Amino acid sequence: MSLHTSLKVGGPADIFAVPQDADDLLNLLTLLGEQNIPWIAVGKGYNLLVRDKGIRGAVISLEQFNRIEQLPLSTHSTSVEGRGGYIRAEAGAENISVVRFAQQKGLGGIGFIAGIPGTIGGAIKMNAGAYGEGILERTDHLTLLRAGKIANYYMNDLDFGYRHLKLAEGDIILAAVLSLEMRESHHTEEEIRKDLELRRSKHNVGHPSAGSFFKNPQGQAAWRLIDAAGMRSTKVGGAQVSEVHSNFLVNTGNATTQHFLDLAEIVKNAVFALSGVTLEEEVRIVGEI
Ligand SMILES: Cc1cc2nc3c(=O)[nH]c(=O)nc-3n(C[C@H](O)[C@H](O)[C@H](O)COP(=O)(O)OP(=O)(O)OC[C@H]3O[C@@H](n4cnc5c(N)ncnc54)[C@H](O)[C@@H]3O)c2cc1C
Repeated sequence: MSLHTSLKVGGPADIFAVPQDADDLLNLLTLLGEQNIPWIAVGKGYNLLVRDKGIRGAVISLEQFNRIEQLPLSTHSTSVEGRGGYIRAEAGAENISVVRFAQQKGLGGIGFIAGIPGTIGGAIKMNAGAYGEGILERTDHLTLLRAGKIANYYMNDLDFGYRHLKLAEGDIILAAVLSLEMRESHHTEEEIRKDLELRRSKHNVGHPSAGSFFKNPQGQAAWRLIDAAGMRSTKVGGAQVSEVHSNFLVNTGNATTQHFLDLAEIVKNAVFALSGVTLEEEVRIVGEI
């Protein structure tokens, strides 16, 4: 899995499956179910920390589900006045491609995901966002594969918040319909430019990372707490608290997942000892213990 994650650590999965379409995915799940093989769905692995022993079972990549289309407003049940239109993006579509597609259609309001690496599936599951905005606030509904059935679920009926979407065990996000505003192309271009520039100046950590390792506790910035606890640049093996951005834990070259887990524990203990705050991982930790 080190080949499939941005942190470039993690042992092998038993099976890495790339279904071509919904039928293929349903057949795969039937086969796995018949043999009691566990599985997880992933995007591009920009927020995944896979343990060193790897993953017993199957990893299902939705990368072939990557169509993006504009929906006619009339087909829509919850069209909101003042909004411009709807874009449906399949789970494997990359965030930047969705922003660019919308831009071509004169739609916008999701420029904040332009620089977030990964897929729409991963962005939806994580409620990815920046500058106080999250993708789920721009989402009308999701198409989920739940208990063997494909159906639409509206955001009003789902529980979500900061970097969090509650789904049932085994749900697979197949697509999201985003509710966007009319926006002139050059405005979106400016949003994208600013976002990428800011990221270049603040996030250019020079090593593989998963972005922010910890969630920001309510009303506080994790990086400030980590800095205050004197943890910037702390290293365990090849894993290090970045010298550039102290909420980025980076792989300086020869890290293992255990290095990251040990480093995260040291950081959490130091922050708790100083400020009484328990940091919670934003990265998803998966795999055999
Ligand atoms: C340099 C850098 C900067 C970053 N900046 C930001 C930022 O500003 N804001 C932010 O929010 N994040 C940021 N991230 C983190 C990461 O990019 C996001 O969390 C992104 O949404 C992950 O997408 P992914 O496709 O790689 O998902 P993955 O990492 O593959 O998966 C993430 C989670 O979603 C689940 N999942 C993925 N696809 C599906 C699906 N189809 N169905 C069900 N579950 C699924 C996985 O099981 C996993 O639990 C950054 C990462 C890096 C490396």
